[in-house]
Amino acid sequence: MLSLKQSIIQEVHLNELKDRNIQFYVKRDDLIHPEISGNKWRKLKYSILHAEQQKFEGILTFGGAYSNHLVATAAACQLNNLRSIGIVRGEELTIVSNETLMRCAEYGMELHFVSRSDYSLRNEKMYQEELTSLFPSMYIVPEGGANYLGIIGCSEILAETSNDFDIVVVAQGTTTTSAGVLLSLPEDSTLWVVPVLKGFNSLAEMKALFTYSAFESETVKDWLSKIEILNEYHFGGYGKYNTELIDFIESFYIETGIPLDPVYTGKSMFALLKEIQKQDLRNKRILFIHTGGLQGAKSIFEKEKRVIF
Ligand SMILES: *Cc1c(COP(=O)(O)O)cnc(C)c1O
Repeated sequence: MLSLKQSIIQEVHLNELKDRNIQFYVKRDDLIHPEISGNKWRKLKYSILHAEQQKFEGILTFGGAYSNHLVATAAACQLNNLRSIGIVRGEELTIVSNETLMRCAEYGMELHFVSRSDYSLRNEKMYQEELTSLFPSMYIVPEGGANYLGIIGCSEILAETSNDFDIVVVAQGTTTTSAGVLLSLPEDSTLWVVPVLKGFNSLAEMKALFTYSAFESETVKDWLSKIEILNEYHFGGYGKYNTELIDFIESFYIETGIPLDPVYTGKSMFALLKEIQKQDLRNKRILFIHTGGLQGAKSIFEKEKRVIF
């Protein structure tokens, strides 16, 4: 199987951290691959391996019109000589509706556009059985790579580090990445999660994912007690942003050379630096997990006339 490189850890020096003697590191998963960026690769890795070992022809998965997960699946499948099928939300769409879908098609993904009501059935057993009978040779992966194998893939992020941080920070969508990080989080560390959806119930979502993935409930309770949720940094909800966020991303890039995206990593980095001002975190070691997502961000910065990376 294709193996992508381990990501580096970068120490970042910011003036506001020096005053407080905070050691700050960024795990650069955005550098793993230009297209199969960051956590999308982590979440897919063992599903790809499973599909290969079980002699599936490829992977079938789900996503919205701008899904990073769909592009990552398409690219990862092509690199591994697997077929890929994407079930896309929105019957009005075509493969030329936007750049995300075009890239999926370029990587050879077969796209099927379905109505919102059909799409809402994607995790139902009946619907999945229907898909299995239509595409019997495909391994079905949930939206966002949110399955047991996705969690296991993300548990390798901290395992590649010294894993001795007081605080680990990560953005949350489906919660698969944060669930994987929890698996390998040391006893005395705290995981800060930053949901990018408005009104998102992180704990309930994580519990549901762990249960779906057949983890034992007492263990899950233990893990979830190590979480702190920063749920006031969604900027209005998924994909929403304002000038303050774009300004922040731009100045962070100028100061550190690290690009962020306005959907996930920009919001989570913004949250972390705001909390550093609010809370007493003197002498702490903090790790920020850069989950990638920059591919989709480029068009936003072009639209905002701020080409920064
Ligand atoms: C998809 C994505 C996330 C969300 O990860 P989940 O595992 O769904 O919680 C975070 N950051 C980036 C850059 C992403 O593309």
